[in-house]
Amino acid sequence: MYVREFNVVIVGAGPAGLFAAYELVTNSRGDIKVAVVERGYRASERRCPIVTSELDVDYKISGCAMCNPCHIMQGVGGAGALSSGTINLRPDVGGDLDKLIGSWRKAEELIKYIDSVFIKFGAPKDRLFTIQSSIATELERLAAKAGAKFIPTPQRHIGSDNTVGVIENITKYLESRGVKFFLGTKAVDIVRSSSYLTVKTASGNITAKFVILAPGRSGASWFAELAKKRGIEIKPGPLDIGVRVEIPSYIAEPITKIVRDPKIIMYTKVYDDKVRTFCTNPNGFVVQERYDDHIVGVNGESYVGVKSKNTNFALLVTVKLTNPLEDTIAYGRSIAHLATKLGGGKPIIQRFGDLIAGRRSTWERVSRSAVEPTLKHVTPGDVGMALPYRVVANLIEAINRLDTIMPGIASSQTLFYAPEIKFYSVRARINKYLETTLDNVFVAGDGAGLSRGINVAAATGILAARGILNKLA
Ligand SMILES: Cc1cc2nc3c(=O)[nH]c(=O)nc-3n(C[C@H](O)[C@H](O)[C@H](O)COP(=O)(O)OP(=O)(O)OC[C@H]3O[C@@H](n4cnc5c(N)ncnc54)[C@H](O)[C@@H]3O)c2cc1C
Repeated sequence: MYVREFNVVIVGAGPAGLFAAYELVTNSRGDIKVAVVERGYRASERRCPIVTSELDVDYKISGCAMCNPCHIMQGVGGAGALSSGTINLRPDVGGDLDKLIGSWRKAEELIKYIDSVFIKFGAPKDRLFTIQSSIATELERLAAKAGAKFIPTPQRHIGSDNTVGVIENITKYLESRGVKFFLGTKAVDIVRSSSYLTVKTASGNITAKFVILAPGRSGASWFAELAKKRGIEIKPGPLDIGVRVEIPSYIAEPITKIVRDPKIIMYTKVYDDKVRTFCTNPNGFVVQERYDDHIVGVNGESYVGVKSKNTNFALLVTVKLTNPLEDTIAYGRSIAHLATKLGGGKPIIQRFGDLIAGRRSTWERVSRSAVEPTLKHVTPGDVGMALPYRVVANLIEAINRLDTIMPGIASSQTLFYAPEIKFYSVRARINKYLETTLDNVFVAGDGAGLSRGINVAAATGILAARGILNKLA
Protein backbone atom coordinates (compact mmCIF):
# COMPACT_ATOMS: atom_id res chain seq x y z
CA MET A 1 0.00 0.00 0.00
CA TYR A 2 1.24 3.49 -0.78
CA VAL A 3 0.16 6.99 0.11
CA ARG A 4 1.12 9.80 -2.25
CA GLU A 5 0.45 13.49 -2.03
CA PHE A 6 -0.41 15.77 -4.91
CA ASN A 7 -2.05 19.14 -5.49
CA VAL A 8 -4.66 17.66 -7.81
CA VAL A 9 -5.84 14.10 -8.43
CA ILE A 10 -7.83 13.49 -11.58
CA VAL A 11 -9.94 10.33 -11.75
CA GLY A 12 -10.26 9.18 -15.37
CA ALA A 13 -7.90 9.74 -18.30
CA GLY A 14 -10.51 10.31 -21.00
CA PRO A 15 -10.58 13.59 -22.94
CA ALA A 16 -11.97 15.37 -19.84
CA GLY A 17 -9.19 14.11 -17.55
CA LEU A 18 -6.38 14.57 -20.08
CA PHE A 19 -7.36 18.13 -20.99
CA ALA A 20 -7.75 18.98 -17.30
CA ALA A 21 -4.19 17.74 -16.70
CA TYR A 22 -2.96 19.61 -19.80
CA GLU A 23 -4.49 22.87 -18.62
CA LEU A 24 -3.16 22.46 -15.08
CA VAL A 25 0.45 21.85 -16.09
CA THR A 26 0.47 24.27 -19.01
CA ASN A 27 -1.18 27.24 -17.36
CA SER A 28 -0.28 27.04 -13.68
CA ARG A 29 2.07 29.74 -12.42
CA GLY A 30 4.24 27.55 -10.23
CA ASP A 31 4.91 23.87 -9.83
CA ILE A 32 1.74 21.87 -9.61
CA LYS A 33 1.77 18.18 -8.76
CA VAL A 34 -0.89 16.36 -10.73
CA ALA A 35 -1.84 12.68 -10.57
CA VAL A 36 -4.16 10.85 -12.96
CA VAL A 37 -5.86 7.68 -11.70
CA GLU A 38 -7.10 5.50 -14.55
CA ARG A 39 -8.51 1.98 -14.29
CA GLY A 40 -7.46 1.12 -17.86
CA TYR A 41 -4.07 1.21 -19.56
CA ARG A 42 -1.94 3.39 -21.86
CA ALA A 43 -3.52 4.08 -25.26
CA SER A 44 -0.78 2.11 -27.02
CA GLU A 45 -1.33 -0.88 -24.70
CA ARG A 46 -5.09 -1.07 -25.01
CA ARG A 47 -5.66 -4.53 -26.34
CA CYS A 48 -8.34 -4.05 -29.04
CA PRO A 49 -5.97 -3.75 -31.99
CA ILE A 50 -6.33 -1.19 -34.72
CA VAL A 51 -8.33 -2.71 -37.55
CA THR A 52 -6.16 -3.28 -40.58
CA SER A 53 -8.67 -5.21 -42.63
CA GLU A 54 -12.38 -5.93 -42.49
CA LEU A 55 -11.55 -9.42 -41.18
CA ASP A 56 -9.88 -7.95 -38.12
CA VAL A 57 -13.11 -6.39 -36.94
CA ASP A 58 -14.38 -9.67 -35.46
CA TYR A 59 -11.05 -10.23 -33.68
CA LYS A 60 -11.25 -6.74 -32.31
CA ILE A 61 -14.66 -7.38 -30.81
CA SER A 62 -13.90 -10.79 -29.36
CA GLY A 63 -10.64 -9.39 -27.97
CA CYS A 64 -12.64 -6.69 -26.24
CA ALA A 65 -15.34 -9.02 -25.01
CA MET A 66 -12.72 -11.07 -23.19
CA CYS A 67 -10.89 -8.27 -21.45
CA ASN A 68 -11.48 -6.45 -18.22
CA PRO A 69 -11.37 -3.48 -18.06
CA CYS A 70 -13.09 -3.10 -21.40
CA HIS A 71 -10.39 -1.61 -23.59
CA ILE A 72 -12.88 0.13 -25.88
CA MET A 73 -14.34 2.18 -23.04
CA GLN A 74 -11.48 2.35 -20.55
CA GLY A 75 -7.85 3.42 -20.65
CA VAL A 76 -5.86 6.57 -21.40
CA GLY A 77 -7.80 8.55 -24.02
CA GLY A 78 -11.06 7.20 -22.59
CA ALA A 79 -13.97 6.05 -24.69
CA GLY A 80 -12.80 8.23 -27.58
CA ALA A 81 -9.29 6.75 -27.89
CA LEU A 82 -10.17 3.81 -30.10
CA SER A 83 -12.94 5.71 -31.87
CA SER A 84 -13.07 7.49 -35.19
CA GLY A 85 -11.95 10.61 -33.34
CA THR A 86 -14.41 13.03 -34.85
CA ILE A 87 -14.10 16.34 -33.07
CA ASN A 88 -17.29 18.37 -33.44
CA LEU A 89 -16.25 21.99 -33.67
CA ARG A 90 -19.50 23.37 -32.28
CA PRO A 91 -20.24 24.01 -28.62
CA ASP A 92 -23.84 22.76 -28.77
CA VAL A 93 -22.97 19.38 -30.30
CA GLY A 94 -21.56 16.81 -27.88
CA GLY A 95 -23.09 18.76 -24.99
CA ASP A 96 -24.36 22.24 -24.24
CA LEU A 97 -21.12 24.10 -23.64
CA ASP A 98 -22.63 27.45 -24.59
CA LYS A 99 -25.28 27.05 -21.88
CA LEU A 100 -22.70 25.82 -19.36
CA ILE A 101 -20.48 28.85 -19.96
CA GLY A 102 -23.32 31.27 -20.61
CA SER A 103 -21.71 32.69 -23.76
CA TRP A 104 -21.73 31.31 -27.31
CA ARG A 105 -18.61 33.29 -28.23
CA LYS A 106 -16.56 32.05 -25.26
CA ALA A 107 -17.74 28.51 -25.82
CA GLU A 108 -16.70 28.69 -29.48
CA GLU A 109 -13.29 30.04 -28.46
CA LEU A 110 -12.81 27.12 -26.08
CA ILE A 111 -13.71 24.59 -28.80
CA LYS A 112 -11.18 26.25 -31.14
CA TYR A 113 -8.54 26.02 -28.41
CA ILE A 114 -9.25 22.29 -27.98
CA ASP A 115 -8.92 21.78 -31.73
CA SER A 116 -5.57 23.59 -31.68
CA VAL A 117 -4.33 21.31 -28.86
CA PHE A 118 -5.32 18.20 -30.82
CA ILE A 119 -3.44 19.58 -33.85
CA LYS A 120 -0.42 20.38 -31.69
CA PHE A 121 -0.26 16.70 -30.73
CA GLY A 122 -0.67 15.31 -34.23
CA ALA A 123 -4.33 15.51 -35.32
CA PRO A 124 -4.31 15.83 -39.13
CA LYS A 125 -4.58 19.49 -40.13
CA ASP A 126 -6.05 18.65 -43.52
CA ARG A 127 -9.00 16.60 -42.24
CA LEU A 128 -11.24 19.52 -41.39
CA PHE A 129 -14.72 19.11 -42.84
CA THR A 130 -16.71 22.29 -43.16
CA ILE A 131 -19.88 23.01 -45.02
CA GLN A 132 -20.57 25.87 -47.46
CA SER A 133 -23.39 28.07 -46.21
CA SER A 134 -25.44 27.72 -49.44
CA ILE A 135 -25.27 23.92 -49.14
CA ALA A 136 -26.10 24.09 -45.44
CA THR A 137 -29.22 26.09 -46.32
CA GLU A 138 -30.19 23.43 -48.87
CA LEU A 139 -29.84 20.69 -46.24
CA GLU A 140 -31.80 22.79 -43.75
CA ARG A 141 -34.57 23.09 -46.34
CA LEU A 142 -34.56 19.33 -46.95
CA ALA A 143 -34.70 18.62 -43.22
CA ALA A 144 -37.53 21.11 -42.77
CA LYS A 145 -39.51 19.16 -45.39
CA ALA A 146 -39.18 16.12 -43.14
CA GLY A 147 -40.24 18.18 -40.11
CA ALA A 148 -36.66 17.99 -38.80
CA LYS A 149 -33.78 20.34 -38.11
CA PHE A 150 -30.32 20.06 -39.64
CA ILE A 151 -27.43 21.43 -37.55
CA PRO A 152 -24.39 22.29 -39.70
CA THR A 153 -21.27 21.20 -37.77
CA PRO A 154 -17.63 21.66 -38.83
CA GLN A 155 -15.64 18.60 -37.82
CA ARG A 156 -12.04 17.47 -37.54
CA HIS A 157 -11.63 13.79 -38.31
CA ILE A 158 -8.59 12.37 -36.52
CA GLY A 159 -9.44 8.83 -37.62
CA SER A 160 -9.33 5.67 -35.53
CA ASP A 161 -5.90 4.85 -37.00
CA ASN A 162 -4.49 8.16 -35.68
CA THR A 163 -6.24 8.67 -32.34
CA VAL A 164 -3.93 6.33 -30.38
CA GLY A 165 -0.85 8.23 -31.64
CA VAL A 166 -2.36 11.60 -30.72
CA ILE A 167 -3.31 10.35 -27.24
CA GLU A 168 0.18 8.89 -26.76
CA ASN A 169 1.71 12.27 -27.69
CA ILE A 170 -0.49 14.05 -25.14
CA THR A 171 0.40 11.43 -22.49
CA LYS A 172 4.15 11.77 -23.14
CA TYR A 173 3.87 15.56 -22.96
CA LEU A 174 2.01 15.36 -19.63
CA GLU A 175 4.58 12.91 -18.24
CA SER A 176 7.38 15.24 -19.34
CA ARG A 177 5.64 17.95 -17.32
CA GLY A 178 5.64 15.75 -14.22
CA VAL A 179 2.10 14.34 -14.35
CA LYS A 180 2.05 10.95 -12.63
CA PHE A 181 -0.26 8.34 -14.18
CA PHE A 182 -1.56 5.54 -11.94
CA LEU A 183 -2.76 3.05 -14.55
CA GLY A 184 -4.72 -0.13 -14.00
CA THR A 185 -5.89 1.62 -10.84
CA LYS A 186 -9.55 1.98 -10.03
CA ALA A 187 -10.64 4.73 -7.67
CA VAL A 188 -13.13 3.28 -5.24
CA ASP A 189 -13.89 6.12 -2.84
CA ILE A 190 -13.04 9.66 -1.84
CA VAL A 191 -12.69 10.62 1.77
CA ARG A 192 -12.09 14.03 3.30
CA SER A 193 -9.56 14.31 6.10
CA SER A 194 -9.09 17.87 7.42
CA SER A 195 -8.41 20.02 4.35
CA TYR A 196 -7.23 17.08 2.23
CA LEU A 197 -9.08 14.65 0.01
CA THR A 198 -8.00 11.04 -0.19
CA VAL A 199 -8.70 9.03 -3.32
CA LYS A 200 -8.83 5.40 -2.23
CA THR A 201 -7.77 2.71 -4.68
CA ALA A 202 -7.23 -1.02 -4.25
CA SER A 203 -3.46 -0.55 -4.27
CA GLY A 204 -3.14 2.54 -2.11
CA ASN A 205 -4.33 6.00 -1.21
CA ILE A 206 -3.56 9.22 -3.02
CA THR A 207 -4.17 12.51 -1.28
CA ALA A 208 -4.59 15.96 -2.73
CA LYS A 209 -6.11 19.33 -2.03
CA PHE A 210 -8.31 19.09 -5.13
CA VAL A 211 -9.96 16.24 -7.01
CA ILE A 212 -11.43 16.26 -10.51
CA LEU A 213 -13.83 13.41 -11.15
CA ALA A 214 -13.93 12.57 -14.86
CA PRO A 215 -14.94 8.90 -14.98
CA GLY A 216 -16.89 8.99 -18.26
CA ARG A 217 -19.89 6.91 -19.17
CA SER A 218 -18.33 3.65 -18.03
CA GLY A 219 -17.88 5.22 -14.58
CA ALA A 220 -21.26 6.97 -14.44
CA SER A 221 -22.83 4.47 -12.02
CA TRP A 222 -19.77 4.61 -9.75
CA PHE A 223 -19.94 8.40 -9.79
CA ALA A 224 -23.67 8.39 -8.94
CA GLU A 225 -23.10 6.03 -5.99
CA LEU A 226 -20.11 8.02 -4.76
CA ALA A 227 -22.08 11.24 -5.02
CA LYS A 228 -24.90 9.83 -2.90
CA LYS A 229 -22.47 8.46 -0.32
CA ARG A 230 -20.29 11.56 -0.05
CA GLY A 231 -22.87 14.31 -0.33
CA ILE A 232 -22.26 15.55 -3.87
CA GLU A 233 -25.65 16.82 -4.99
CA ILE A 234 -26.84 15.26 -8.24
CA LYS A 235 -30.00 15.30 -10.27
CA PRO A 236 -31.21 12.75 -12.78
CA GLY A 237 -30.57 13.63 -16.38
CA PRO A 238 -32.14 12.35 -19.57
CA LEU A 239 -31.16 9.08 -21.21
CA ASP A 240 -30.64 8.50 -24.91
CA ILE A 241 -31.74 5.12 -26.12
CA GLY A 242 -32.16 3.62 -29.56
CA VAL A 243 -30.34 1.69 -32.23
CA ARG A 244 -27.35 1.88 -34.56
CA VAL A 245 -28.59 2.04 -38.13
CA GLU A 246 -26.48 0.53 -40.92
CA ILE A 247 -27.11 1.20 -44.59
CA PRO A 248 -25.15 0.91 -47.82
CA SER A 249 -22.86 3.94 -48.08
CA TYR A 250 -24.40 4.99 -51.41
CA ILE A 251 -27.70 5.76 -49.65
CA ALA A 252 -26.05 8.12 -47.17
CA GLU A 253 -23.52 9.55 -49.62
CA PRO A 254 -25.57 12.43 -51.06
CA ILE A 255 -25.50 13.85 -47.50
CA THR A 256 -22.27 12.43 -46.02
CA LYS A 257 -20.09 13.62 -48.86
CA ILE A 258 -21.21 17.13 -47.92
CA VAL A 259 -21.13 16.59 -44.16
CA ARG A 260 -19.52 13.47 -42.66
CA ASP A 261 -21.65 13.39 -39.54
CA PRO A 262 -25.00 15.09 -40.21
CA LYS A 263 -26.79 16.17 -37.05
CA ILE A 264 -30.53 15.89 -37.59
CA ILE A 265 -33.07 16.43 -34.81
CA MET A 266 -36.82 15.89 -34.89
CA TYR A 267 -39.74 15.64 -32.48
CA THR A 268 -42.09 12.74 -33.09
CA LYS A 269 -45.75 13.26 -33.85
CA VAL A 270 -47.36 10.89 -31.33
CA TYR A 271 -45.10 11.30 -28.30
CA ASP A 272 -43.42 14.65 -29.05
CA ASP A 273 -40.15 12.93 -28.11
CA LYS A 274 -36.78 14.14 -29.35
CA VAL A 275 -35.06 11.81 -31.81
CA ARG A 276 -31.63 12.62 -33.20
CA THR A 277 -28.97 11.18 -35.43
CA PHE A 278 -25.56 10.91 -33.80
CA CYS A 279 -22.05 9.68 -34.58
CA THR A 280 -22.30 8.91 -38.29
CA ASN A 281 -19.49 6.77 -39.70
CA PRO A 282 -19.34 6.86 -43.50
CA ASN A 283 -17.74 3.60 -44.77
CA GLY A 284 -17.40 2.67 -41.11
CA PHE A 285 -17.91 -0.28 -38.80
CA VAL A 286 -20.43 -1.08 -36.10
CA VAL A 287 -18.66 -2.11 -32.90
CA GLN A 288 -19.72 -3.73 -29.68
CA GLU A 289 -19.55 -1.94 -26.35
CA ARG A 290 -19.35 -3.84 -23.11
CA TYR A 291 -20.28 -2.33 -19.77
CA ASP A 292 -19.87 -3.70 -16.26
CA ASP A 293 -22.46 -6.34 -15.27
CA HIS A 294 -21.91 -8.13 -18.61
CA ILE A 295 -24.28 -5.94 -20.54
CA VAL A 296 -23.56 -5.12 -24.14
CA GLY A 297 -24.40 -2.29 -26.47
CA VAL A 298 -23.29 -0.98 -29.83
CA ASN A 299 -21.41 1.99 -31.20
CA GLY A 300 -19.71 2.89 -34.46
CA GLU A 301 -16.34 3.94 -35.80
CA SER A 302 -14.57 4.75 -39.02
CA TYR A 303 -10.96 4.76 -40.18
CA VAL A 304 -8.93 6.92 -42.50
CA GLY A 305 -7.20 3.88 -44.02
CA VAL A 306 -9.82 1.07 -43.82
CA LYS A 307 -13.24 1.41 -45.40
CA SER A 308 -16.36 -0.76 -45.34
CA LYS A 309 -19.14 -0.51 -47.92
CA ASN A 310 -21.58 0.67 -45.25
CA THR A 311 -22.42 3.78 -43.31
CA ASN A 312 -23.71 3.61 -39.75
CA PHE A 313 -25.14 6.15 -37.32
CA ALA A 314 -26.93 6.15 -33.99
CA LEU A 315 -30.63 6.97 -33.94
CA LEU A 316 -31.44 7.96 -30.39
CA VAL A 317 -34.62 8.81 -28.52
CA THR A 318 -34.27 11.10 -25.49
CA VAL A 319 -36.11 9.69 -22.48
CA LYS A 320 -36.89 11.73 -19.38
CA LEU A 321 -38.38 10.13 -16.29
CA THR A 322 -40.34 11.67 -13.46
CA ASN A 323 -41.93 10.41 -10.26
CA PRO A 324 -41.69 7.65 -8.98
CA LEU A 325 -38.67 6.47 -11.01
CA GLU A 326 -36.26 9.27 -11.83
CA ASP A 327 -33.16 7.12 -12.07
CA THR A 328 -32.56 6.99 -15.81
CA ILE A 329 -29.31 5.01 -15.35
CA ALA A 330 -31.22 2.18 -13.65
CA TYR A 331 -33.87 2.32 -16.37
CA GLY A 332 -31.26 2.26 -19.16
CA ARG A 333 -29.35 -0.60 -17.54
CA SER A 334 -32.48 -2.69 -17.11
CA ILE A 335 -33.25 -2.23 -20.82
CA ALA A 336 -29.65 -3.12 -21.72
CA HIS A 337 -29.87 -6.20 -19.47
CA LEU A 338 -33.04 -7.34 -21.21
CA ALA A 339 -31.56 -6.76 -24.67
CA THR A 340 -28.34 -8.60 -23.70
CA LYS A 341 -30.38 -11.53 -22.37
CA LEU A 342 -32.47 -11.70 -25.52
CA GLY A 343 -29.33 -11.56 -27.65
CA GLY A 344 -27.64 -14.35 -25.66
CA GLY A 345 -24.89 -11.97 -24.52
CA LYS A 346 -24.56 -10.24 -27.89
CA PRO A 347 -26.25 -7.17 -29.39
CA ILE A 348 -29.39 -7.82 -31.44
CA ILE A 349 -29.51 -7.20 -35.19
CA GLN A 350 -32.75 -6.80 -37.12
CA ARG A 351 -33.73 -5.73 -40.61
CA PHE A 352 -36.06 -2.72 -40.62
CA GLY A 353 -38.51 -4.71 -42.79
CA ASP A 354 -38.67 -7.53 -40.23
CA LEU A 355 -39.31 -5.02 -37.44
CA ILE A 356 -42.20 -3.49 -39.41
CA ALA A 357 -43.57 -6.98 -40.22
CA GLY A 358 -43.43 -7.89 -36.51
CA ARG A 359 -41.10 -10.88 -36.97
CA ARG A 360 -37.59 -11.57 -35.77
CA SER A 361 -34.68 -11.50 -38.20
CA THR A 362 -32.69 -14.65 -38.87
CA TRP A 363 -29.23 -14.99 -40.45
CA GLU A 364 -31.01 -16.31 -43.55
CA ARG A 365 -33.14 -13.14 -43.79
CA VAL A 366 -30.17 -10.87 -43.03
CA SER A 367 -28.11 -12.59 -45.73
CA ARG A 368 -30.82 -11.75 -48.32
CA SER A 369 -30.20 -8.02 -47.74
CA ALA A 370 -27.99 -5.80 -49.85
CA VAL A 371 -26.35 -4.62 -46.60
CA GLU A 372 -23.78 -7.01 -45.18
CA PRO A 373 -23.43 -6.36 -41.44
CA THR A 374 -20.00 -5.08 -40.41
CA LEU A 375 -20.53 -6.45 -36.88
CA LYS A 376 -20.98 -10.22 -36.99
CA HIS A 377 -20.79 -10.84 -33.25
CA VAL A 378 -24.57 -10.25 -32.98
CA THR A 379 -27.78 -12.26 -32.69
CA PRO A 380 -30.51 -11.79 -35.30
CA GLY A 381 -33.63 -11.09 -33.28
CA ASP A 382 -36.44 -8.67 -32.60
CA VAL A 383 -35.63 -5.12 -31.50
CA GLY A 384 -39.36 -4.77 -30.72
CA MET A 385 -38.91 -7.30 -27.87
CA ALA A 386 -35.83 -5.55 -26.48
CA LEU A 387 -36.70 -1.84 -26.45
CA PRO A 388 -39.82 -0.19 -25.00
CA TYR A 389 -42.76 0.21 -27.42
CA ARG A 390 -42.56 4.00 -27.27
CA VAL A 391 -38.88 4.00 -28.26
CA VAL A 392 -39.51 1.58 -31.14
CA ALA A 393 -42.49 3.64 -32.40
CA ASN A 394 -40.33 6.78 -32.31
CA LEU A 395 -37.51 5.02 -34.22
CA ILE A 396 -39.87 3.77 -36.93
CA GLU A 397 -41.38 7.24 -37.39
CA ALA A 398 -37.91 8.80 -37.50
CA ILE A 399 -36.64 6.39 -40.17
CA ASN A 400 -39.70 7.04 -42.31
CA ARG A 401 -39.19 10.80 -41.99
CA LEU A 402 -35.44 10.56 -42.65
CA ASP A 403 -36.32 8.90 -45.96
CA THR A 404 -37.19 12.39 -47.27
CA ILE A 405 -33.64 13.50 -46.53
CA MET A 406 -31.84 10.24 -47.42
CA PRO A 407 -34.09 8.41 -49.89
CA GLY A 408 -33.75 4.65 -49.48
CA ILE A 409 -33.11 4.63 -45.74
CA ALA A 410 -36.59 3.29 -44.96
CA SER A 411 -35.82 0.21 -47.07
CA SER A 412 -36.76 -3.14 -45.53
CA GLN A 413 -33.05 -4.06 -45.83
CA THR A 414 -31.80 -1.35 -43.49
CA LEU A 415 -30.18 -2.90 -40.41
CA PHE A 416 -30.88 -1.99 -36.79
CA TYR A 417 -28.45 -2.99 -34.01
CA ALA A 418 -29.67 -2.72 -30.42
CA PRO A 419 -29.26 -1.48 -27.86
CA GLU A 420 -27.40 1.80 -28.32
CA ILE A 421 -27.69 3.58 -24.99
CA LYS A 422 -25.93 6.70 -23.81
CA PHE A 423 -25.48 6.57 -20.04
CA TYR A 424 -24.61 10.18 -19.34
CA SER A 425 -27.39 10.41 -16.90
CA VAL A 426 -26.90 11.91 -13.47
CA ARG A 427 -25.74 15.48 -13.48
CA ALA A 428 -23.80 16.98 -10.63
CA ARG A 429 -24.90 20.29 -9.17
CA ILE A 430 -21.98 22.60 -9.88
CA ASN A 431 -20.94 26.23 -9.73
CA LYS A 432 -19.53 28.11 -12.71
CA TYR A 433 -16.08 26.57 -12.09
CA LEU A 434 -17.56 23.04 -12.16
CA GLU A 435 -16.99 22.63 -8.44
CA THR A 436 -19.53 20.35 -6.81
CA THR A 437 -21.33 20.82 -3.51
CA LEU A 438 -18.40 18.94 -1.91
CA ASP A 439 -15.67 21.51 -1.37
CA ASN A 440 -12.66 21.19 -3.73
CA VAL A 441 -14.22 18.30 -5.65
CA PHE A 442 -14.68 19.25 -9.31
CA VAL A 443 -16.31 17.27 -12.10
CA ALA A 444 -15.87 17.04 -15.86
CA GLY A 445 -17.04 15.02 -18.82
CA ASP A 446 -19.73 12.48 -19.65
CA GLY A 447 -19.75 10.69 -16.28
CA ALA A 448 -20.99 13.76 -14.42
CA GLY A 449 -23.59 14.47 -17.11
CA LEU A 450 -21.77 17.53 -18.47
CA SER A 451 -20.95 16.29 -21.98
CA ARG A 452 -21.77 13.77 -24.67
CA GLY A 453 -18.73 13.99 -26.92
CA ILE A 454 -14.97 14.42 -27.03
CA ASN A 455 -15.14 18.18 -27.68
CA VAL A 456 -17.32 19.17 -24.72
CA ALA A 457 -15.77 16.54 -22.42
CA ALA A 458 -12.35 18.11 -23.11
CA ALA A 459 -13.82 21.60 -22.60
CA THR A 460 -15.26 20.70 -19.21
CA GLY A 461 -11.86 19.27 -18.20
CA ILE A 462 -10.30 22.62 -19.05
CA LEU A 463 -13.01 24.52 -17.15
CA ALA A 464 -12.53 22.38 -14.03
CA ALA A 465 -8.75 22.90 -14.24
CA ARG A 466 -9.26 26.65 -14.59
CA GLY A 467 -11.59 26.52 -11.57
CA ILE A 468 -8.78 24.96 -9.52
CA LEU A 469 -6.15 27.39 -10.86
CA ASN A 470 -8.52 30.19 -9.89
CA LYS A 471 -8.75 28.85 -6.32
CA LEU A 472 -4.98 28.48 -6.15
CA ALA A 473 -4.33 32.03 -7.41
C1 LIG B 1 -16.74 3.55 -29.75
C2 LIG B 1 -16.97 5.01 -29.43
C3 LIG B 1 -16.83 5.95 -30.42
C4 LIG B 1 -16.97 7.32 -30.14
N1 LIG B 1 -16.74 8.23 -31.13
C5 LIG B 1 -16.81 9.54 -30.84
C6 LIG B 1 -16.45 10.52 -31.81
O1 LIG B 1 -16.03 10.20 -32.92
N2 LIG B 1 -16.58 11.85 -31.49
C7 LIG B 1 -17.02 12.26 -30.25
O2 LIG B 1 -17.09 13.47 -30.01
N3 LIG B 1 -17.35 11.35 -29.31
C8 LIG B 1 -17.24 10.02 -29.57
N4 LIG B 1 -17.55 9.10 -28.61
C9 LIG B 1 -17.93 9.59 -27.28
C10 LIG B 1 -16.68 10.11 -26.57
O3 LIG B 1 -15.67 9.14 -26.65
C11 LIG B 1 -17.01 10.48 -25.14
O4 LIG B 1 -18.03 11.46 -25.15
C12 LIG B 1 -15.79 11.04 -24.42
O5 LIG B 1 -14.71 10.13 -24.48
C13 LIG B 1 -16.13 11.37 -22.97
O6 LIG B 1 -14.96 11.77 -22.34
P1 LIG B 1 -14.78 11.62 -20.75
O7 LIG B 1 -13.39 12.01 -20.47
O8 LIG B 1 -15.89 12.30 -20.06
O9 LIG B 1 -15.00 10.07 -20.44
P2 LIG B 1 -14.31 8.77 -21.01
O10 LIG B 1 -13.70 9.02 -22.34
O11 LIG B 1 -15.32 7.69 -20.89
O12 LIG B 1 -13.11 8.50 -20.01
C14 LIG B 1 -13.33 8.22 -18.66
C15 LIG B 1 -12.17 7.38 -18.15
O13 LIG B 1 -12.34 7.21 -16.75
C16 LIG B 1 -11.93 5.91 -16.39
N5 LIG B 1 -12.60 5.54 -15.14
C17 LIG B 1 -13.93 5.38 -14.93
N6 LIG B 1 -14.17 5.10 -13.64
C18 LIG B 1 -12.96 5.07 -13.03
C19 LIG B 1 -12.56 4.82 -11.69
N7 LIG B 1 -13.44 4.56 -10.73
N8 LIG B 1 -11.23 4.86 -11.41
C20 LIG B 1 -10.30 5.12 -12.38
N9 LIG B 1 -10.64 5.35 -13.67
C21 LIG B 1 -11.96 5.34 -13.98
C22 LIG B 1 -12.35 5.05 -17.56
O14 LIG B 1 -11.56 3.88 -17.61
C23 LIG B 1 -12.11 5.99 -18.75
O15 LIG B 1 -10.86 5.77 -19.35
C24 LIG B 1 -17.38 7.73 -28.85
C25 LIG B 1 -17.55 6.78 -27.85
C26 LIG B 1 -17.33 5.42 -28.12
C27 LIG B 1 -17.50 4.42 -27.02
